[in-house]
Amino acid sequence: MQVQVACDWCGGELVPGAAYCELCGARTRKARRLVRLAVRVELLFLLLVVAVVVGFTWIYSVQK
Ligand SMILES: [Zn+2]
Repeated sequence: MQVQVACDWCGGELVPGAAYCELCGARTRKARRLVRLAVRVELLFLLLVVAVVVGFTWIYSVQK
């Protein structure tokens, strides 16, 4: 995977490993990838919480 060296929006040079362009403030490809990953992890966590709540609700309804 090659490292992005120039901004996609303004073409400005990027600091290695930078998440944002210093010139225009646009997110770099690496940062956009990380944001997508974070959203996926968050959705997975939300699903887990929903599953636990549904599971406990089911257990309590069965116990009556
Ligand atoms: Zn830029």
